[in-house]
Amino acid sequence: MKCSQAHIPTLRDIPQEAESLSHQLMLRAGLIRRLASGIYSYLPLGKRSLRKLENIIREEMDLAGAQEVLLPFVQPRELWEESGRWQVYGKELGRFIDRHENEFCLQPTSEEVITDLARRDLKSYRQLPLNLYQIQTKFRDEIRPRFGVMRSREFLMKDAYSFDVSSESAFTSYEKMREAYRRIFNRTGLSFRAVEADSGAIGGSRSEEFMVLADTGESEIISCSNCEYAANQEKAISKVSQPEPSSSEPISELPTPGLRSIEDLAKKLECEASDLMKTMILVGASSEVVVVVLRGDHELNLIKLESLLKKEKGVSCLRLARDDEMKLWNLPKGSLGPYRFPVKHLLVVDEALSPKAPYVIGANRDDFHLRNFVMSRDLTGSLIQGLIRDVREGESCVHCGSPLRSSRGIEVGHVFYLGTKYSEAMSLKITHENGSERYVEMGCYGIGVGRTLAACIEQNHDQWGISWPVALAPYALAIISLGTGEVLNFSEKLYRYAQNLGVEVLWDDRDLSPGVKLKDMDLIGIPYQLIVGDRGLKNSQVEWKRRKTQEKTFVGIDAIEDWIANEKKNWRA
Ligand code: ATP
Ligand code: MG
Repeated sequence: MKCSQAHIPTLRDIPQEAESLSHQLMLRAGLIRRLASGIYSYLPLGKRSLRKLENIIREEMDLAGAQEVLLPFVQPRELWEESGRWQVYGKELGRFIDRHENEFCLQPTSEEVITDLARRDLKSYRQLPLNLYQIQTKFRDEIRPRFGVMRSREFLMKDAYSFDVSSESAFTSYEKMREAYRRIFNRTGLSFRAVEADSGAIGGSRSEEFMVLADTGESEIISCSNCEYAANQEKAISKVSQPEPSSSEPISELPTPGLRSIEDLAKKLECEASDLMKTMILVGASSEVVVVVLRGDHELNLIKLESLLKKEKGVSCLRLARDDEMKLWNLPKGSLGPYRFPVKHLLVVDEALSPKAPYVIGANRDDFHLRNFVMSRDLTGSLIQGLIRDVREGESCVHCGSPLRSSRGIEVGHVFYLGTKYSEAMSLKITHENGSERYVEMGCYGIGVGRTLAACIEQNHDQWGISWPVALAPYALAIISLGTGEVLNFSEKLYRYAQNLGVEVLWDDRDLSPGVKLKDMDLIGIPYQLIVGDRGLKNSQVEWKRRKTQEKTFVGIDAIEDWIANEKKNWRA
């Protein structure tokens, strides 16, 4: 492609709308343009990179035995009612009503449609295992779209679904996908890590996320400094040391006028925040009151609490109690505690709290706390115990005891073992070898295609712009002509040669200043650049530049064709 004919609208200035580096660079390098909040167009360069990634994904999915399909973007409400997700998905699901008053949604993912497809045509164990995938537009009405295509509302996702006769065979399918994901992300040259993840709203019991390591990532990863353990914060577990029970005095009231925060209390009482208990009140979807207690220095992780409560009591969709509810129950915000709690409730206790140690808690009365509250002695009634806190750096790994580390990542892919969640809900059964009928075991596997590109830029850029790995670069080679006449003639010769060789080549043949052209090419980040100039040609030389290192080599004009051919050998991703 010649730049004089290409649509590559680069920008010198940083656009105001850009919130992250990859977002800035995608706009500045002319890869994307915003249409509305969380909705983007891909321009030619962006589309080329997208297609490169899609092709890597396709090759590896096909190699793993998956088959490509294309499912409808618009899906009827009835199917989503069958799985129960019409209600559960909430506001993130884009919905509309057609002219005949039929309700539809825009696919955020496609478990319902694929399960429906499968139940129509799968009858026998002989047809399994089966893995179907698509690379298709998704819509999720994200509460806070941001960072460009990293968290957008309309985006491209590869979603795959596996069908198996048994859980053992489903695990084999899951493993195959994990391996395919490893190959895909290895080929893109990204530095990534697979971490244990919460299976969240989609359900199921086993799930891992593929994280591109980046300081700007939205997800927190907890990993062991010694062993292989790594999990996302929503699933991470740890060991913390618990205080030895001290001689336990009876519970006693403590006036604490004006002291409402853990910090103020600890300061006044001259103790550690970990000697205090933090109490929070949440409310579930069916108005269940949930009292949550944690060590004073720990933070609640809502996702962990939600999975625990869902598992133990079927309670879902927790939110903090509102001010009007607290008023109604006559509860003071700054001095809550689990002792003689005045409203019917479920009590959830974080496992880092020691049952036998004395803690300071709120007295459920303004300006009063209680000392020497010992859970095993002073609590009546049942409680639910589990790990519901954020794990912190320095806590111990449950597998090997070494200190845990915290880092950040961008979730680019996700593999789930779904079990029979959808096959049961939507009656997808097959006949086994022994003649019995059983629900099909399923798995689902997603990759955010646009998000992976953005993550790649987060990992591959410098002060001049994007520095693409060849695997995802819109073009592998750029020819930059600095001059006219013989410079253009020789450039064209090289351009034709490279094209015939099958190299994806962009030729900057524009009549612009050298500065502008060199800057543009560094901004859009083509990994290899051939600079053809008057002075070089006089010495029978051209310049070969590696974008990443900015390292330059002079190559004789007689040797340059072989040079290109030789370099090309190393480019296959
Ligand atoms: P997140 O926690 O970031 O919202 P998710 O758990 O909702 O992600 P999945 O449902 O597992 O995501 O979707 C599969 C993949 O689709 C994700 O791993 C991610 O790469 C991509 N993805 C999800 N939401 C978005 C979005 N709003 N914009 C771009 N890509 C997305
Ligand atoms: Mg999401």
